[in-house]
Amino acid sequence: AGGGGGGYGGHGYSEERSSARRVADHYSARSNQTLEERENSPIIHLKKLNNWIKSVLIQLYAHPGDCVLDLACGKGGDLIKWDKAKVGYYVGVDIAEGSIKDCMTRYNGDTDQQRRKKFSFPARLICADCYEARLDEHLYEDAPFDICSCQFALHYSWSTEARARQALANVSALLRPGGIFIGTMPDANVIIKRLRETDGMEFGNSVYWISFGEEYAEKKFPASRPFGIKYKFHLEDAVDCPEWVVPFHLFKLLAEEYDLELVLTKNFHEFVHEYLQKPEFAELMRRLGALGDGRQDQSTLSQDEWEVAYLYLAFVLRKRGQPPSQ
Ligand code: SAM
Repeated sequence: AGGGGGGYGGHGYSEERSSARRVADHYSARSNQTLEERENSPIIHLKKLNNWIKSVLIQLYAHPGDCVLDLACGKGGDLIKWDKAKVGYYVGVDIAEGSIKDCMTRYNGDTDQQRRKKFSFPARLICADCYEARLDEHLYEDAPFDICSCQFALHYSWSTEARARQALANVSALLRPGGIFIGTMPDANVIIKRLRETDGMEFGNSVYWISFGEEYAEKKFPASRPFGIKYKFHLEDAVDCPEWVVPFHLFKLLAEEYDLELVLTKNFHEFVHEYLQKPEFAELMRRLGALGDGRQDQSTLSQDEWEVAYLYLAFVLRKRGQPPSQ
């Protein structure tokens, strides 16, 4: 795996850029947990559930030999999932330098936890702002990709219209016709509903809280101003940084402008109920141990973790056009 690429630095940040920097610093500062720390996490079952959802998406949509673009790849937590799908090539991009370093270490198999055979696919890792940089300029030799993934990260692009558009322009420019874009992000419908149900501007439980500023005291979010709706998100042992609401119906319309058509969207609760019906995914859930035996939904996941799962959705988009004939 080679580093390099766009990078992020310099002075005179605009407000959006410094928000992006804050997000990058937050993720860069989070070091790799030991196995013991991970097992003792108050959200260990939620992490396992999230991994199950990403694994299901990858198993449903990736094919052997696929060329993969992992936007906001983080520390490479999905490398093993892609390996199981027998993909042919992997490019990971993330804004956080520390995460890219950890991802490289994981790919090279040099951590204690990673005494495993080497990954079967070549990989390239790049540190860049996926929502600012024109990635096609960096990746013209690697494109087109068969599948693009952006897990728990696309909402960081909705700070401005320009960034939301650049995110979709990058995906569209780099996917082949018929290529697939899979992802997970907060479910704005649930978040806004929760905000309206609460008396103040903050809600949550023992493992998370979300807080909106007083500028949203009326709790109205006109469709004419869908970008830059900021809230603070805190998830125990995981996240503590600004995030942006992504009104999904507007995301769908914007994606269409970039030739990306909606194939599927499901809140995580619905996703779990639907795909647990399939024996192979129930078996995977049993092995991961997120939901006990895979039949009683919450046998090991706490109610508070299950509530956090309700804050997220999974989506699948397809790039318009016919795949090149074999
Ligand atoms: N996708 C990984 C996963 O599922 O394990 C990481 C998810 S983590 C919640 C969010 C990631 O988004 C972090 O690694 C962060 O550095 C990355 N990120 C946030 N803004 C970004 C941007 N503008 N460009 C690239 N990566 C970004």
